[in-house]
Amino acid sequence: MRGALGGPGVLLRRLREVMAASISPQERLDRLVVLIAGNLVAEVCSVYVLREDGSLELYATEGLNREAVHLTTMRAGEGLVGLIASEAEPLALSDAQAHPSFSYRPETGEEVYRSFLGVPILRGGAVMGVLVIQNRASRLYSEDEIETLQTTAMLMAEMIAAGGLKSLAAPGASIGLDRPIHGVGVALADGVGLGHVVLHEPRVAITNLIAENPAAEVGRLEAAISEMRASIDELIERGDVAHTGEHRDVLETFRMFAHDQGWLRRMREVVMTGLTAEAAVERVQSDTRAKMLRQTDPYLRERLHDLDDLADRLLRTLVGKANGVARENLPENAILVARSMGPAALLDYDRAHLRGLVLEEGGPASHIAIVARALGIPAVGEVVNATALVEAGDAIIVDGQAGEVQIRPQPDVENAYKDKARLRARKQKQYQKLKELPAVTRDGVEITLQINAGLFVDLPNLEATAASGIGLFRTELQFMVAQHMPTTAEQQALYATVLDAAAERPVTFRTLDIGGDKVLPYMERVEEENPALGWRAIRIGLDKPRLLRAQVRAMLRAGAGRDLKIMLPMVATTEEFRRARMIIRREQAMLEKQGVTPPRDLRVGVMVEVPSLLFELPEIAREADFLSIGTNDLMQFLFAADRENKRVADRFDPLGVGSLRALRRIVEAAAETGCPVTVCGEMGGKPLETMALIGLGYRGFSMSAASIGPVKAMLRALDAGKLRERMDWMLAAPEGATNLRPQLSAFATEFKIPV
Ligand code: PEP
Ligand code: MG
Repeated sequence: MRGALGGPGVLLRRLREVMAASISPQERLDRLVVLIAGNLVAEVCSVYVLREDGSLELYATEGLNREAVHLTTMRAGEGLVGLIASEAEPLALSDAQAHPSFSYRPETGEEVYRSFLGVPILRGGAVMGVLVIQNRASRLYSEDEIETLQTTAMLMAEMIAAGGLKSLAAPGASIGLDRPIHGVGVALADGVGLGHVVLHEPRVAITNLIAENPAAEVGRLEAAISEMRASIDELIERGDVAHTGEHRDVLETFRMFAHDQGWLRRMREVVMTGLTAEAAVERVQSDTRAKMLRQTDPYLRERLHDLDDLADRLLRTLVGKANGVARENLPENAILVARSMGPAALLDYDRAHLRGLVLEEGGPASHIAIVARALGIPAVGEVVNATALVEAGDAIIVDGQAGEVQIRPQPDVENAYKDKARLRARKQKQYQKLKELPAVTRDGVEITLQINAGLFVDLPNLEATAASGIGLFRTELQFMVAQHMPTTAEQQALYATVLDAAAERPVTFRTLDIGGDKVLPYMERVEEENPALGWRAIRIGLDKPRLLRAQVRAMLRAGAGRDLKIMLPMVATTEEFRRARMIIRREQAMLEKQGVTPPRDLRVGVMVEVPSLLFELPEIAREADFLSIGTNDLMQFLFAADRENKRVADRFDPLGVGSLRALRRIVEAAAETGCPVTVCGEMGGKPLETMALIGLGYRGFSMSAASIGPVKAMLRALDAGKLRERMDWMLAAPEGATNLRPQLSAFATEFKIPV
């Protein structure tokens, strides 16, 4: 059924005239609702706009009582309008009053209307309001009508986003666009940052929403789709995936979506309602986002990103480039907001102006998290729909400790965070004072504190923390941020730079720990069911020794005439260690034959991070030159809990008797053979956990630079002997809880140990 004012194309053209007319915002809205009601042959058309407090306010109506405008409000979830806003889905009812959510508002006079059609006003998948039509008679709204109303809702969304309705807000209330949002994600890098949003991938700005000539728009859309498909085909066929950094399977998924008939049909249908091709792409993507964001299935979420990427490609084809911020030209106090980002992209930004990072993806073990930590940039990941919730320039706070963000914070929230940031700065100053003091416990036990590193940006941390060395240099990080596989010469130069920066302090280079979650963009990816348990680290090194040999050679050359420590990751058996050591010895012998000066002292050690090694401790501790415990992996394998899976990662406490006993066995075995042992996993950098490890007998730790101060403050207040006694007793046979965290915390409180 079509209205007296003609089809949707006619409606949109009329709407455009009203949009362009020089009238007040309220008058504009009033005229829009009259036009929509007329076109869809409805007696009522009303616009509700989301307010800052989350409620929905009636902004304009044709048909309902005009007095109710700016007076009637619905709380989130209240009534049919609230339901649409919370579900972000259209709702069509032939008998509205029979619906359980119907809520009667006498001031509007809506009791006489039986049929109801409401659609969310969406932008980037976020709800900004609700648009409703109503009819007296009971009627079924057609698909076409729902479509038309959604299209008009998109125009309203743009109007709201452009700030056109701000002046209409009732006194004391303001529009939801400026609504403060408290986003919860996961902590990636510690610290608190206050600043303003910079979008890593700025949205393509669509200025032209309504089509002059719908047939021509269909043509433009078709052409853009063909171009997009051709470019994806070309990428796949060129096989040059390394160059683009996109993996083949991602591209194959792209190709599948690029041919997805449902998606393409939706866009064509929307163009037929009178929107331009780019507006249609945007609208379909916004609907899809709204739907998919309400899905909890991670697979579907992942697909949303693929679709987002494709929609972006189409938009760029249709309207050209987005105008972004030059990376070297960041505004002061910039907080980057991105869907996802690779470590290299982050390194491209001017560090001096970066105050924080917010991602929709990215777990704590992701590469970007590692780099953010290395750079000391507070970062939060897994903030749902973050890029759609913000506008460039919005005030934003990143709390990388709690894993939270505050978008457009209220002044009291902002002040609280400013206090928090000041407190942290004060603490940093205190840690700074500890810098020159020795890392010795109250009862005189010396503890070695080293830092973990992997990038050039980490090196100044040695001086800054006065750490005694680099206890874990993750060599794969350089490989991960590089565009191509570093040559042996490049590697040698890097390792030499690291050794130079360390001066005479020891550096422990770990051979490549790739595979699993650590993927090199230029290396063919091996599909595995369980990558964490798959072909990774030393397993690749032993099966394809060319890579390992080249790396070892680079290390040996860089270490000529100096002390050199090489550490092997993911070793599961003593046999593996022997084979890897053999490779290192052979390389050493070869270089000596070539007349290259050997290292002054070469030590080959092992990461203890695969539980099987716990049952070969006497052998490995006798044969390896040193042990270093990778608690991140050791705990994930000990508890069978994926370190990257939020649901299970924090489920088991390493301060339980099970893991503490395992850790005690390692330190005891090492003591029996005189094999040096340190802890280089995250556990060793958390004051309470480090305290417990000292209680077990550990004396050496390697941790992120930011942890050195807090750990040193803790250990200087600790009586290690007393803790040891207490822990022996705690671990002997706990009758109650087997998690010792509460008792260890109580010990710290009792002796005023800052943890
Ligand atoms: C560990 O597993 O604890 C570790 C230090 O190595 P990574 O975090 O690099 O796996
Ligand atoms: Mg590990």
